[in-house]
Amino acid sequence: MTHEEIRSRLEFYRDLGIKDIYRRSPAIQTMPVIVPVELPSLAPQGDTLERICSDIGDCKRCRLSLTRNKIVFGVGNPEAKIVFVGEGPGADEDAQGIPFVGRAGQLLTQMIEGTAAKEGIPLKRADIYICNVVKCRPPENRTPEADEMEICGQFLFRQLSAIKPLAICALGSTAAKALLGGKDGVTKLRGKWLKWNEIPLIVTYHPSYLLRPYNQNAKRESWEDLKKLLHFALD
Ligand code: URA
Repeated sequence: MTHEEIRSRLEFYRDLGIKDIYRRSPAIQTMPVIVPVELPSLAPQGDTLERICSDIGDCKRCRLSLTRNKIVFGVGNPEAKIVFVGEGPGADEDAQGIPFVGRAGQLLTQMIEGTAAKEGIPLKRADIYICNVVKCRPPENRTPEADEMEICGQFLFRQLSAIKPLAICALGSTAAKALLGGKDGVTKLRGKWLKWNEIPLIVTYHPSYLLRPYNQNAKRESWEDLKKLLHFALD
C-alpha cells in the first residue's frame, strides 16, 4: 500500500469517528520508514529553533506521522538555561501541539514552579524550554520504537545545540536512553550529574510515573533532583 493510500484510508476511518487506529502486529512493527530519510548528522552552523521547526515541516519520516494530529515541536524560552526532555506527546499534547499540557504536564509545571518558589528562585514554566524525544504521539502512548527515536532524535539534538542550556533534565528512561545511549533506566541514573555533549544533564522520574499513587517515594526523590538542577543552573 502506498503512503497516499494509507493516508486516505486513515482519513476515511477518521471521518467515521474512529480516531485511534493502531495495530501492533509484526506487519506494522517492521514497517519501513515511509520516505527516504534525510538526516542532518550535525547541527548546521547558526541553527535556530525556527529553522529546525521548518526542517521538520509536515514530517512523514516515520510511521508516527500516520496517526498524529499535531506535531509537538517544543515550547518555552529559546534562550532557556534549563531544557526538560520528555518521551513523546500524549493525547492532550497531540490535540494542542504543545508538550506537557495534560495531567503529567500539569504535575511537571507544578513541581518546577513549586520547587523554585520554595527555594527562593524566581522561575516560571515560560522561562525554561520543554520538548520531547519524539514529536508525534505514539499510538496508545506506547514507548517510541528505536528507529522513531533515531529519526526524531536528530531534531532533539539540534534543538539542544541551538538553545545551549546550562543544564538538561531527562524525564524518564526513554529520554535518558535517547540522550545518553546505554540501557540503564531511571532508578540507576537519577540524581547524578551526567553529560550530553558537554552539557550537564540530570535524569529524574517521568511525571506520569509520579502520578501513580504508590510512587510517593519517587516523588520525594524527584523534588530532590529538581532542587539540585535549579540551584546548579540558576544560582
Ligand atoms: N509525556 C511526555 O513524555 N511528553 C509530553 O509532552 C506529555 C506527556
